[in-house]
Amino acid sequence: MDLNLAPEDVAFAEEVRTFIDANLPDATRRAMTLTTAFLNEPELGYEWHKLLHKKGWSVPSWPDEWGGPGWTPVQKYIFDLESARAGAPVYNGQGSRMVGPVLMHFGTDEQKNKYLPSICSGEDHWCQGYSEPGSGSDLASLKTKAVADGDDYIINGQKIWTSFAHKSNCMFALVRTSTEGKRQEGITFILLDMDLPGITIRPIIGNGGDHEFNEVFFDDVRVPQSGRVGEENKGWDVAKYLLEFERGGALVAGRVRAQFAKVVRLIRDRGLIDDAHIRIRMAEIGADLDTMEMVDIRVLSDLQSGANPGAISSMLKMRWSSIRQEVSELALDAAGEDILKWEPERPLYDALQLPPDEEELLGIAPRYLNFRAYTILGGTNEIQAEILGKRVLGL
Ligand SMILES: Cc1cc2nc3c(=O)[nH]c(=O)nc-3n(C[C@H](O)[C@H](O)[C@H](O)COP(=O)(O)OP(=O)(O)OC[C@H]3O[C@@H](n4cnc5c(N)ncnc54)[C@H](O)[C@@H]3O)c2cc1C
Repeated sequence: MDLNLAPEDVAFAEEVRTFIDANLPDATRRAMTLTTAFLNEPELGYEWHKLLHKKGWSVPSWPDEWGGPGWTPVQKYIFDLESARAGAPVYNGQGSRMVGPVLMHFGTDEQKNKYLPSICSGEDHWCQGYSEPGSGSDLASLKTKAVADGDDYIINGQKIWTSFAHKSNCMFALVRTSTEGKRQEGITFILLDMDLPGITIRPIIGNGGDHEFNEVFFDDVRVPQSGRVGEENKGWDVAKYLLEFERGGALVAGRVRAQFAKVVRLIRDRGLIDDAHIRIRMAEIGADLDTMEMVDIRVLSDLQSGANPGAISSMLKMRWSSIRQEVSELALDAAGEDILKWEPERPLYDALQLPPDEEELLGIAPRYLNFRAYTILGGTNEIQAEILGKRVLGL
């Protein structure tokens, strides 16, 4: 294992940093500072995505065959790190990091040609229709039903927690096509347009005040069978492949470090840097960050040499989500009573025009509340612990 960057990677990091510094608008940086939801608003990332597309960098993890830069795992890591440090937005992660790789692996030529270029260019925005009321961790219990009718399926049922369904024009979803045999064997993976008759989207406002989630209702929605990915009733295999990307596909050190640096600044500004209790928490978080970054680099080293990191992605997900929450808790304590000013309008960057230091404070409480989500989404921490228990400890 080699933990040092090769000279060409150091040069690549410099190239990425220079590009971002020269092109990321100040207004976007400000808006990202005031983004409190788990994902940034799609319209905030769209212009940046178009700029990256022009440069050939809009889908960093894709091969050049489909419009990606064909980067090594280390280059992808560097790009993520530099983007996060600079506060660059992310656009359509469900498209580029989830359904895109799935289509490359399982899609027909027609599906690849139809969908991959528009993910790359940013024309399509995708949402993920997996969870249902009562079917989250136990996803295989899902009930949304698809019945074949001629060349179509007719879909009835409900999805929930669908991030940015209200701002997406496409969905990838899991539907039940059979109740025979094992529950996993009756599930089908399907792509659909969000403007089909019979689809109703109802907002859910998160505990931090943001509208990110939705309920999506299907009432006799006619979906062409040409949107099915893989065979009928074999959607579980497709879903499992996708979950690996959801859990282990994104190394997040850059974003957490950038978040922590802001909190340390706040602690200094508030004159709390000599508070023993605060210092202990800063030291603990700092040590955790360093340790986790080492694990990230170990995973990278495995990926670079072609090995599959396996169940370690569950450990990364568990630890990073907890560290993010600890950073948001420290920010809350450092800000003190100022965080009691609550701004109900969202997004905050449209609602506010205050001096930057005052603006920054208003994001702290909503972010603290929203960050509770990190230990839930993409498989809760209890589920990750089960995976580790079974696969690593052999329990
Ligand atoms: C920010 C965010 C964005 C999301 N976006 C999407 C999206 O775009 N599309 C989508 O489909 N879904 C989305 N989700 C939903 C997410 O996938 C589910 O919340 C998650 O899978 C957990 O399911 P649940 O909420 O039904 O909780 P449950 O599964 O009901 O779990 C409730 C509690 O019970 C525990 N538990 C459950 N089973 C076990 C077990 N076997 N052993 C031990 N403990 C257990 C859990 O850990 C948890 O603490 C999102 C969630 C969040 C928070």
